[in-house]
Amino acid sequence: MKKVMLMAVAILFSAATVFAAHSTNPVSDTTKTKKVKPVAKIQYTCTMHPEVISDKPGKCPKCGMTLVEKKPVKKKAEPMKM
Ligand SMILES: [Zn+2]
Repeated sequence: MKKVMLMAVAILFSAATVFAAHSTNPVSDTTKTKKVKPVAKIQYTCTMHPEVISDKPGKCPKCGMTLVEKKPVKKKAEPMKM
């Protein structure tokens, strides 16, 4: 009876090893899906009219100023220290 248990454990162990090796295998096609890169969307805004946002460069419809690249939102600046 003990032999059967030992064999079961051995099989389980080898199965787990094979599974682990397979899941970490870079050739595994589960990871071959298209890489989705988070594209930083550049937006353009008017320095005078922050509500004007365009996804391409152009001119502000309100004042005609050239739209400037809007920088991605960063961490909030340090709170004011007085
Ligand atoms: Zn403007």
